[in-house]
Parts: sequence; C-alpha cells; structure tokens
Amino acid sequence: MAKLTALRGTRDLISPEILRWQEMEETARRVLSAACFTEIRTPIFERTELFERGVGEATEIVSKEMYTFQSRSGDRMTLRPENTAGVVRAYLERGLRAKAPSPLKLFYIGPQFRYERPQKGRSRQFHQIGVEILDSADPRVDAEVILVACEYLRAMGLEDLTVDLNSLGDPVDRAPYRAALVTYLTSVRDRLDPDSVERIDRNPLRVLDSKAESTREALKNAPSILDFLGDGAAAHFEAVRAHLAACGIRHRIVPGLVRGLDYYSRTTFEIQSERLGAQATICGGGRYDGLVEELGGPSVPAVGWALGMERLAIVLDAVAGPPRERGPVAFLIAQGDEAVRAVLPLARDLRRAGVACELSFVKGGFGKQFKAADRHGAKYAVVLGEDEMAKGTASVKDLSTGEQTEVARDDLAEHLTR
Ligand code: ATP
Ligand code: MG
Repeated sequence: MAKLTALRGTRDLISPEILRWQEMEETARRVLSAACFTEIRTPIFERTELFERGVGEATEIVSKEMYTFQSRSGDRMTLRPENTAGVVRAYLERGLRAKAPSPLKLFYIGPQFRYERPQKGRSRQFHQIGVEILDSADPRVDAEVILVACEYLRAMGLEDLTVDLNSLGDPVDRAPYRAALVTYLTSVRDRLDPDSVERIDRNPLRVLDSKAESTREALKNAPSILDFLGDGAAAHFEAVRAHLAACGIRHRIVPGLVRGLDYYSRTTFEIQSERLGAQATICGGGRYDGLVEELGGPSVPAVGWALGMERLAIVLDAVAGPPRERGPVAFLIAQGDEAVRAVLPLARDLRRAGVACELSFVKGGFGKQFKAADRHGAKYAVVLGEDEMAKGTASVKDLSTGEQTEVARDDLAEHLTR
C-alpha cells in the first residue's frame, strides 16, 4: 500500500509550532474582544452559489481556486475560500441587523481552502483571522478596523509594519476610471503579461494587482483612481486618513492597490512585511458597501479585513525565533507502593492549583525517572520516596541548578508557584 501522507498544500501543526498558533489565536481573541468584536463561526462548507455571487465569478478564486463538490443528494457545495461571504450570509439569514446593536462588529478565526500552487506563505488549506463591521459608512469605522489590525500585530510583537492605503471611490467614480484604465492598458498591451492582457476587458482593475515584472513596469504611467474620486469618496478618504493620523498610524498611499470586485468601494488597504518575500501581504481588507445587497439583502455598508496566519507565523519566526517547547513545572517521581499510589492524586491537586504537572510513568529506579524528568524539560523534579511518605513531605529538586529542598506536601503547590 502506498504511504499515507497529508495532501499537497496542507500540513499538520504540532508542538512546538502549535504554541505560536495558540498565541496568535489567544491574542486575537483578547485584542478583538477588548475592541468589542464578537466571534462568529460559520460552516466550513457552503453552497457554491454563495461564493459565485459573494466573491464573484470573474475572480481567480471562483474561476480557478475553489474546492467544489457534489453532495450525495446532488447539491453543489464548496469548501469556503474566504469567510466574508459566509459572515454576510449568516448576517442576513439570522436577521442580525434587527437583533444586534449597530454597527455589528464580528471576528472569525479558521481554515480557508484554495486550490493554488503551494509555496512559502501560500498553501491550499490556510488559516485566517478576520473582522467585519456591518452597517456603518462612517470613516471612523474604516480607521477602526485598520487600528485593530495594527493593535493585534503590535500585541504579537510587530510594531514597524506599514499600512498601504487607497480608495476605489464609489461605483459611479469607477466607471470613468475603468474606461481610462482600459484605454491605457490597450496602449501598453504588448508589454503586459498574457494573464493581464486577458483581463483588460474582463477585469481591468485586477491588472493593477499583477505581480509580473513587465506588467509592473508598463503600469508606471497608468491613470490613478484617486484622480477620479467624487466629492463624497474624496472626503471619506481624507477623513479615514485623518483618523489614522490621530492614532499615529503611518500609512502610504498606493493608488494601484485594488480589489477586483464590483462591490468593493472606497477604502482598501494592506499590511505588508518585507520578511515574507514574494507573498508579502499579511493582512488585506477594505470597504464592501455593495456585498450585502449582492447577496440578496438590503443596502448595508460594511468594511473588514482578513489576515493570513501562516504568513504571520513566518514573520514571527523571523523576528522572535521559532517557539520553544514548554516543559512541565513539576515532574513527579515515586518509589515504593505507597508513593506510587499517592502520585496521581498529588498531580491532580497540583494541577488544580495551576501547576503544570507531569508524572513519571517510567518503571525503574530514581536514575531512570530523573532522566525522564530531563527529557520532558521539567523545571522541578518532585520526589516521593518511602522517607518522604513517612514524613508527609516531598523533595523538590531544581533541575537547572541541582538545588534540593524538602517541602511539606501540603505546602507543595504554594512552593512551586512562588
Ligand atoms: P494573494 O495576493 O497573496 O493571493 P489574496 O488577495 O488572494 O492574496 P485575500 O483573499 O485578500 O488574499 O486574503 C487575505 C490574506 O489571507 C492574504 O493577505 C494572505 O495573508 C492570506 N492568504 C490568502 N491566500 C492564501 C494562501 N493560499 N495561503 C496562505 N495565506 C493566504
Ligand atoms: Mg490569492
């Protein structure tokens, strides 16, 4: 039989790497809860139609990257390639607009699936932390989502990342811009990569997103969307910038920063790290005032972002080094029938007091058991021998210094937490 392996573009997260993932998740819950976002968990698979409408059939994601299958009853379903469509579906289906305070602030953490070519920072099952704020057009809400992304990254120890910012204007601004862009792209057509040539008519804004060197060069004199903003969008953009400045958030204006979907409007932004190489974007987001309507709801302005956890983990490893295994605080070693019987309830009591405690399941003498304590990376070995049992004590050995003290068993938890 062929060896069973994980599928290409997927992988197992095990200790010590998993510690970093727990930290990313716990910190997200803490920082986002402090900003009064509540968590939402939507299903990992949804009707294919949700993504066709909610992400857009002209996008790479829908046209090339989805894991779509038929259930036994013949329904078409898809492993979610992103989470915003699912959140908006739930918002409408569960009537959250009427039930919850407005604007509604949600966050999610979980796996997403895209059929892509796996490389550093790009996998087929990947994980995102994301936020959405629904039902507000206030520029402070745009600044709020960017602020909370920066605060999260700061809490993870990353302070010097820059925010790239742009405005896509309103749909009425975009029509003339699109026309100007198509004219320009047509004039430099022979310098564009084949994918971009194909997009000139289908999705010209997406060309601005191209990573091909020749295309990037050819785009140098492309018209800027910022010259096409109407009064409303221009004022909104200036207000977002002012609120970011008030928070001390440095940002660059990048007129080529687009999302190729019609329901995006006004603010778009990305947070990048040079440490990532080709896949530099850790976090990307923007305002999507047209999406709720696109999915059959009323007109509800909204803004959000998604952050790639694999990419964040790469940056954190580069900055702080890979995470290290945390051994137990106490490793219990017993000798003699009475001590062996005492060791499990003692472990229970220490754990109840908050001491991370492991016990020796090794059969053999003290020497062998001390070796096991070392292998577990324990801080202290706690020894129960016949002597200690008789006296109601335990011998505590600091495994880094070798220092040994005898402690009354009743005081053990206090001694180990001190
Ligand atoms: P890219 O241009 O890198 O493909 P994207 O525009 O497709 O990114 P979004 O859909 O905006 O990405 O998702 C937000 C974030 O999720 C990205 O900035 C990235 O950090 C992460 N991400 C997206 N696709 C993948 C993937 N296949 N593997 C790992 N992380 C990913
Ligand atoms: Mg992509």
